Amino acid sequence: MTLNQKVLEIRNRQRIKSKPFDEPAACWLGTDNIRGEILDVLTVIFQTSGCYWGKKGGCTMCGYVYDSASGEPSDADIMKQLETALLRASEKQRFMVKIFTSGSFLDPKEINRDLRVQILSRLSKDSRVAAVLAETRPEFVNQEAIDDCLSAMNNKPLEFAYGLETTSDKIRRESINKGFSFNDFKRACSLARQNGIFSKAYLMLKPPFLSEKEALDDILKSIDEAAPYAETISINLCNVQNGTFVEKMWENKEYRPPWLWSMVKILADAKAQHPETYLMSDPVGAGAKRGPRNCKNCSYDVADMIREFSRTQDTKTLEKKDCDCRRLWEKELLLDDVTFGSPIRD
Ligand code: SF4
Ligand SMILES: [Zn+2]
Repeated sequence: MTLNQKVLEIRNRQRIKSKPFDEPAACWLGTDNIRGEILDVLTVIFQTSGCYWGKKGGCTMCGYVYDSASGEPSDADIMKQLETALLRASEKQRFMVKIFTSGSFLDPKEINRDLRVQILSRLSKDSRVAAVLAETRPEFVNQEAIDDCLSAMNNKPLEFAYGLETTSDKIRRESINKGFSFNDFKRACSLARQNGIFSKAYLMLKPPFLSEKEALDDILKSIDEAAPYAETISINLCNVQNGTFVEKMWENKEYRPPWLWSMVKILADAKAQHPETYLMSDPVGAGAKRGPRNCKNCSYDVADMIREFSRTQDTKTLEKKDCDCRRLWEKELLLDDVTFGSPIRD
């Protein structure tokens, strides 16, 4: 059985809750460092027909596919989702909007060309919106899509974000089952840059089958190799989402989410190497048993330290907190390789 067949088998067993098509899957307010400026950010996850790759099986850690609609929301439904999300920012004078679809904003089967232009025009005409980010798989970045977006954005900054996960094609294929290559990412970023569009790469710390040390080394190498293409690199720490291949491994005690200390080391080392690149990380689920964690005494504080670094880009913030469990993490970096990535504790 291939990795994709295994992922699809798990997906087909999952029950999906449906919600009204005119409600976004999720939306929330936060703050972010946007190329040097700290801005309020409205994140909206549209409920669309969903990621075409996820429907065929898709990525081993991805539970976002269950956020998609049980049918096909109309254009009016999706515009209503946007208006509902914008209400969250009604008190804000200036903010960025991040658009996710649990798939690809530029996939015309999820968001058709007319609708894409309608959404971006609505945002560019709103004087409070300072910039827009939209996530997409790289295969959907082409000149036609770019021209549509730029005409709608009317000179406001636009950024495309890609779930690159790693620059290693072997890890992306054999551990994540992502279905595109590093070359696909490089092509999309280069075309975007030629057209004045920024790029953001999402990397994934510790997908399945990697030891803690292999995972850490993979992210440091990936930052080196992705930095020439993306102005911003955001590192997600793998967490255990419902209905995923990673969840099955975790239930069988074959997978432990990454240590937060690994992230601290990655940010400190990579920022020294790439001071001009914006490095971000939001350790979602930190401290929970399904999330990235250290010991229970320090996980929340270290996660906050990582978030503070993401806002300030100041590596001194990464020295604020220490804990005895750091010595255990150092040992795990040495020993985990001989346990083939299976957890050696908890
Ligand atoms: S991670 Fe992205 S590309 Fe992969 S299945 Fe999930 S939504 Fe699709
Ligand atoms: Zn600790």
